[in-house]
Amino acid sequence: MKVVKDITAVQQISEFYRCTGKKVALVPTMGFLHEGHTSLMLRAKQENDILIVSIFVNPTQFGKGEDFDKYPRDIVRDFHICEKSGADYIFNPEAEEMYGKDHFTKVTLSNVTEKLEGDFRPGHFDGVATVVTKLLNIAKPHRIYLGQKDAQQNAVLKRMISDLNIDTELIICETIREENGLARSSRNTFLTSEQKDKASVLFHVLKEGEKMITREKITDTEIIYEKVKNIIKEKSPDFQLQYYKITDNNSLEEIRDLNGYTGEILISLACKVGSTRLIDNIIFTK
Ligand code: AMP
Repeated sequence: MKVVKDITAVQQISEFYRCTGKKVALVPTMGFLHEGHTSLMLRAKQENDILIVSIFVNPTQFGKGEDFDKYPRDIVRDFHICEKSGADYIFNPEAEEMYGKDHFTKVTLSNVTEKLEGDFRPGHFDGVATVVTKLLNIAKPHRIYLGQKDAQQNAVLKRMISDLNIDTELIICETIREENGLARSSRNTFLTSEQKDKASVLFHVLKEGEKMITREKITDTEIIYEKVKNIIKEKSPDFQLQYYKITDNNSLEEIRDLNGYTGEILISLACKVGSTRLIDNIIFTK
């Protein structure tokens, strides 16, 4: 496994493998790797010849007052995890290499970026779309592997790849969870063990939402929102639920009446647990 910090070098490496008929995969990450990331790497390696993992805490996707400075980092540990998971190359650039002294271009999407996370993290998806466009132009992968954990990010990137005719296939892998249901996240390292235990309520309310829709046949989403709020209030009164929304998984439009609805349903949430902001989601059909 090689660690590369230089954009041109990665472009040349990828070009070489593409010319020799090899399939190149990219797993983009912000590091502090866990089993969610390794599941993407293992699958990407299995389905392709060459695996490039990018590790870059992208400053442009963090807003003012967010946790860019304190985002967890442990690059040596990350290198070991990548090596064990079959990575061939790690692309680990400095911010200076990615953005230079001045960088005038921003990739902005409308609509899918404007709700859910967009309400709480303005500008976040501009940063994500821009850095992923750059990573796709640098690693030139046949396939990019992403986790379902970031459902809105996936919807945004799917749309961007389609709108901009980017020749990369997007593959979404299931969310890896702790035994109690808590989705693995680099930010879980900020949680105390008590907070981790209590955070199981988040997956619990997602499953409850699914159950109310698929088994109890509740069609008025307001009823579900009310029940979910009460469960969280009762089990973890100190948690601050920012949103819990039932939407169409592609358009991210909110569904108010599930009567006759046949598409894929996304229930997503964001919740502050102490000073740590967690997101999670579940996708299903009726
Ligand atoms: P991050 O390093 O948090 O930016 O995540 C990099 C990639 O790993 C994204 O595509 C995430 O959706 C994915 N990922 C993060 N956590 C998980 C998880 N628990 N299960 C599966 N994929 C994940």
